[in-house]
Amino acid sequence: MNVLLVEDEPAIADTLVYALKTECFEVHHALTGQEALDAFGSTRFDFAILDIGLPDMTGLDVCRKMRETSSVPILFLTARSGEVDRILGLELGGDDYVTKPFSPREIVARIRAILRRATVPATAAATNGNGSSAPAPAEAAGPLHHDPSAMRIHCHGAELDLTAHEYKLLLVFLKNPRRVLTRDQLLDHAWADPGAVTDRTIDAHIKSIRAKLRVAKPGAEDHIQTRRGLGYLFVP
Ligand code: CA
Repeated sequence: MNVLLVEDEPAIADTLVYALKTECFEVHHALTGQEALDAFGSTRFDFAILDIGLPDMTGLDVCRKMRETSSVPILFLTARSGEVDRILGLELGGDDYVTKPFSPREIVARIRAILRRATVPATAAATNGNGSSAPAPAEAAGPLHHDPSAMRIHCHGAELDLTAHEYKLLLVFLKNPRRVLTRDQLLDHAWADPGAVTDRTIDAHIKSIRAKLRVAKPGAEDHIQTRRGLGYLFVP
């Protein structure tokens, strides 16, 4: 696992680099946004940790640039929880965030949780039968088509560029069409540590998924409907 760590405070960076290396992650540490983008352009990373307050640009700017070419899982480090909606929502598509101060152990746990969520369907498919790696059959609901082996969801034939959480959420909808799902149910299915996120996090992700579905088929009705006071409903 190759991790890109973007953090300008040496004390925080040093403890994180040490904790990540102890857990057998490869770490590339960048001090500025530009340094991070240069590294990102020339090396393949499995994960990125972005501090929001950087000397030359914000971590949000770095994320926006990275998202132009990549859906790598991104964990934000932030000093202010007020930034959460932007981080996780439509605009930036981050996967999770940690508020400073934090313990390195917490960061490692979050990374493991995000990576685990992103790989669960693949692992399940690989252990089918007698350990054979026959690809799991594709699933479909209305305009959505799920390829479990590739962990991709298509809408009206167009591949959706989803973050790990969006993928897990949309999968829950795809498997439960025309069923009202409460925010608690969605949290339980899509987050390894549901206690760490709020209802607003779910709402921000749904908003982002809706926008991506709209891009796939402009003018189409929202497939994910809000049931006020209850939750969300997927109508294929
Ligand atoms: Ca900083």
